[in-house]
Amino acid sequence: MVEGSANTLTAAWVVAWLRESARVVGEQRQYLIDLDRAIGDADHGENLDRGFSAVVKKLDDGEAPATPAAVLKLAAMTLMSSVGGAAGPLYGTAFLRGAAALGDAQEVGPDDVVGLLTAARDGVVARGKAESGDKTMVDAWTPAVEAAGTAALAGASVTEVLAAAANAANAGAAATEPLIARKGRASYLGERSAGHLDPGAVSTGLILQAAVDAAGGQQ
Ligand code: ADP
Ligand code: MG
Repeated sequence: MVEGSANTLTAAWVVAWLRESARVVGEQRQYLIDLDRAIGDADHGENLDRGFSAVVKKLDDGEAPATPAAVLKLAAMTLMSSVGGAAGPLYGTAFLRGAAALGDAQEVGPDDVVGLLTAARDGVVARGKAESGDKTMVDAWTPAVEAAGTAALAGASVTEVLAAAANAANAGAAATEPLIARKGRASYLGERSAGHLDPGAVSTGLILQAAVDAAGGQQ
């Protein structure tokens, strides 16, 4: 079951999220490569496609872990070991910290989604030391966390909280275009990094939208 009790998601949702992430990253592979070609080294789409394909293979080969956190942890370990470049360890840390925030809970409610996203964002910041406005994936993660928190406080359902997060992440990614990169490869370009979207912020929006689509509007 993807859907738990009235307003919660289960381990099956995390599995569906990862599978949908793999599908979307595969579909957008060339787009992410092109974004990274403009201000990096043209491998972001390839990195993520390899990483999420490896996650899907793990899910196909073995028994799916029983808790949401255990599924996230499997993904984290797989991303860290299969993706070279900055994004693998960053997403790996995000998922690992998100897993820790969920503990051994079987069901994920609106406040748990906020806890998961907050811990994930904090993990990205701890690992990469980027601040808001540095033109990195943090510029998608932080608005996502804030929007999720606001939605949960307002009594939104678990799927609505995820949707608020994904919409804010996509807006945050769009807003990276004029910024000058201060972290990662793009920072080597200095002012020439302005006028391009940050690839990792864009992929964060795709992955958070995958979380919404995996929840399937079932709430
Ligand atoms: P690499 O830069 O090693 O080629 P990728 O191309 O896979 O790795 O990922 C690049 C993305 O990683 C960037 O677009 C940015 O969003 C993110 N990134 C890079 N460095 C950092 C950092 N220090 N903190 C947060 N995100 C970062
Ligand atoms: Mg790259």
